[in-house]
Amino acid sequence: AIGFINGEWIPVDQAVLPIDERGHNFGDGVYEVIRVYQGAPFKMREHLVRLEKSAEAILLTMNYTIEELEALIAEGLAKTGLQEASVYLQVTRGIAKRVHLFPDVPASTTMTIREAADISDAVREKGVNVTLVDDERWKNCFIKSLNLLPNVVAKQKAKDAGYYEAVFVRDGVVLEGSSCNIFLVKDGVLITPPANRYILHGITRATLLDIAKEIGVSVEEKEFGTDLLLAADEAFMTSTSMEVMPVVEVDGKKIGNGKPGEISMKLLKNYRAKFQHIGV
Ligand code: PMP
Repeated sequence: AIGFINGEWIPVDQAVLPIDERGHNFGDGVYEVIRVYQGAPFKMREHLVRLEKSAEAILLTMNYTIEELEALIAEGLAKTGLQEASVYLQVTRGIAKRVHLFPDVPASTTMTIREAADISDAVREKGVNVTLVDDERWKNCFIKSLNLLPNVVAKQKAKDAGYYEAVFVRDGVVLEGSSCNIFLVKDGVLITPPANRYILHGITRATLLDIAKEIGVSVEEKEFGTDLLLAADEAFMTSTSMEVMPVVEVDGKKIGNGKPGEISMKLLKNYRAKFQHIGV
């Protein structure tokens, strides 16, 4: 593992952050997580474009270009020699005395590159249970902001109650998990909430939609309520870290036959084929 702060490579556990750092004081920043498979960052450009969009949306000018970040990620990977890794990249409004108004200082970029923590195939083959929770987040969930308080609290409460993930519902509309997007399959059609301001526009989500089209699965991006989720034949969640995770139970009610769905597993297989991942 290795760390990076504004031009310097450091050990991940080295203390470097000044007390007056805006990410620390205000959560005033944005981030990305990129998975590296067999030494190659997957969908790196898409992640970095989203990072820049998130930054723009909070009126933050990044201190590195996308090309510079790509080069830095390659440099960091070479330094660690890691083949299966997870890159965490964070850009904040910089280091300045704590006042709300934007300081006149450059943005601050930090990064860690660590060994990827894969989810065991046993979990994936069994599928997971989720719980529906009221979405208490703001209305700009398309921004990958550092402010993850509702997400972390929802995830912890779900775990403490025996669930794998919490799925946010706003006014009866199913949106996304605390750290993933959600899909269902009904009568052979793959359905996922539209990429509006109420969800993060997941890179894995977009990749899965492309794959579905490639392999001839019909796709609908549309709003749906909890009733359709509960009546689904299959359901799964997607993220850079989860890839495709079958959901077999929602608040104790079985989805389909209570086993990972056929279309879900086919999509996972095709997703992994994009980077020749071993397994399933
Ligand atoms: N929604 C939320 C709230 C997330 O935190 C994440 C992952 N960070 C996702 C969706 C999935 O995004 P991606 O596929 O780009 O990892």
